[in-house]
Amino acid sequence: MSKIRIYELAKEINISSKELIKMLGEEFNIIVKNHMSVIEEEDAELLKEFFEEKDKDNEENNYEKKEVKPKDKKNKSKNKEDDDEDEEVIIEIEDTITVKELSEKMKKPTTEVIKQLIFMGVMAGINQEIDFKTAEKLAEKFNCIVIKKEDNSAVAEDELYNEEDEQDEKGVKRPPVVTVMGHVDHGKTSILDAIRKEKVTATEAGGITQHIGAYTVDINGEKVTFLDTPGHEAFTSMRSRGAQITDIVILVVAADDGVMPQTEEAISHCKAANVPIIVAINKIDRPGANPDRVKQELAERDVVPEEWGGNVICVPVSAHTKEGLDSLLEMIILTAEIQELKANPDRNSKGTVIEAKLDKRRGPVATLLVQNGTLNVGDSVIVGSTYGRIRAMFDDKGKKIKSAGPSIPVEILGLSEVPAAGDRFHVVKDEKTAREMADKRKEKIRTEYLQSTHKVSLEDLYSQIKEGKIKELGIIVKADVQGTVEAIRQSFEKLSSEEVKVRVIHGAVGAITETDVMLANASNAIIIGFNVRPDTNANMLAEKEEVDIKTYRVIYDAIEDIKDAMVGMLEPDYKEVVLGRAEIRQIYKISSVGTIAGCYVQNGKITRNSQVRVIRDGIVIFESELASLKRFKDDAKEVATGFECGLSIEKFNDIKEGDIIEAYEIQEIKKKEI
Ligand code: GDP
Repeated sequence: MSKIRIYELAKEINISSKELIKMLGEEFNIIVKNHMSVIEEEDAELLKEFFEEKDKDNEENNYEKKEVKPKDKKNKSKNKEDDDEDEEVIIEIEDTITVKELSEKMKKPTTEVIKQLIFMGVMAGINQEIDFKTAEKLAEKFNCIVIKKEDNSAVAEDELYNEEDEQDEKGVKRPPVVTVMGHVDHGKTSILDAIRKEKVTATEAGGITQHIGAYTVDINGEKVTFLDTPGHEAFTSMRSRGAQITDIVILVVAADDGVMPQTEEAISHCKAANVPIIVAINKIDRPGANPDRVKQELAERDVVPEEWGGNVICVPVSAHTKEGLDSLLEMIILTAEIQELKANPDRNSKGTVIEAKLDKRRGPVATLLVQNGTLNVGDSVIVGSTYGRIRAMFDDKGKKIKSAGPSIPVEILGLSEVPAAGDRFHVVKDEKTAREMADKRKEKIRTEYLQSTHKVSLEDLYSQIKEGKIKELGIIVKADVQGTVEAIRQSFEKLSSEEVKVRVIHGAVGAITETDVMLANASNAIIIGFNVRPDTNANMLAEKEEVDIKTYRVIYDAIEDIKDAMVGMLEPDYKEVVLGRAEIRQIYKISSVGTIAGCYVQNGKITRNSQVRVIRDGIVIFESELASLKRFKDDAKEVATGFECGLSIEKFNDIKEGDIIEAYEIQEIKKKEI
């Protein structure tokens, strides 16, 4: 993982290193020693995002920008407090520099500098040359920064970062995270299950394990975390999103089948990701088992077993008889020890989403792998472009827990939306910060999306695909119940073809609102509603921005329409035209007649013959016809905007004040000449 020096980052966001160090400590619990310390690029990016946010609402910005460029060594930073201490001079030098010259550049008396050198165990006169490293250490004492002249890049990365790095964040040992890969049917799932049963069930009271996407086992006091989704797709898709979460790969090869195409693929993936492999030669209980042949085939692919002079550990196992599983686990522990995996449990937590889903009762549920820091109930997190505050946390046994340290998978509740597997999560100071950052990320996604595509509608989808204008059909789904949203998301995405990918970019419960239209407009998506309607503002905006809104009562109809649209066969014969809307202001119950609604026509008109739907909070609760329409005591044919009327609905008495009556009619569409 690439890293960045504190002073470099400070320069980038134009604050002093000191301010930056303070901010890292206060906001992220990342404690670093000084401006020469390094932090991970990812943390730096988050910090930049955070800083932009803070910068925006100035009143809260405690981290004052420097008024001078740090390079300009003659100027002093004008920070109010600690004025003199805050001065940060950056000195560029060649490979070496004389004590005199360095003293001048630091604006310190040579005597003081020489004294400091003596403290460091270096005896030197004023004209003596000192090397870069010594100069760097020396300068640090005077709150100055020494960098190499010109070719910063030429300062080899490893020279910069692989030094013993006492400045680095503190780290303590963490458990390894293991992924199981290999050809189909070679026994990945069986091995995962066997380990789980052996190691979890035997030791846990009750012996019930939850499938949350990962589990942790205890092997003679050492923990190992297994990711539960075998196969390299998950591995690669996560990696392609920058989330390297696996420390060790168990490559499962069936002893009676040998190296197969997916075995080879897995090998390539591991090599690309530079993750060590332990080979589990499985099914050795089978009569046709031939572990030596497997080793031979592996060696031919540059995966050379230890016993043949290579560095790959091979363990013969059987998921069925459990033979060899213990040595496999031992080898994992051993390999992990060599890797010296470390994390800092005291800092703000970060990690990756392993799985996420929408639970009807509990809302968005996500399994997170904590990779650094300790995650606590009550923490505010930003996860991809969603956010939340952790309401509850469960371990892989379903037990409620309060906190989880590095390499531990947990299931959490409290996110505002369902994140995607592979999304990174970071704990930030408070929920407000998390929300603001999430909003910003969403905004960014929207703009990027907008820049890449053109407006789309179901009617001209096909021609746009043909012209190569769109490669992806973005859909926003709004429905009356949560379950429908998820069902639709899945059915829609399955419609993806080679030419066009169908992607539900947003799905939620409730009326189609102005925000949905804005999102659709910005993302060049269409909106599909199930048993919900656009409110008046949404309708107006959609018309203005030409956003396509389609509403359905049956999922099947929507799927058919999209299918047809994708192949240019969507030719509706009828279309629905909304005539107007009225709001129910008062209810009168009349024993002989039923329930009469006193209404106010908000827009358009209501006609006696129109079909109507009753909308409550944006959700369609009933569709029918008018049973009566009156102006005062008289029957009316139609009532226009701004007028009051009384109406009753065929077969429906359960109206409430505040309900919206939408009048519409179905019109035949004249076929276009071809
Ligand atoms: P995956 O596709 O790699 O996850 O493979 P599975 O774990 O689903 O196993 C595929 C088949 O091999 C199943 O029928 C298992 O019962 C069988 N199998 C897995 N491990 C062993 C083993 O160690 N010995 C024997 N005899 N069969 C095994």
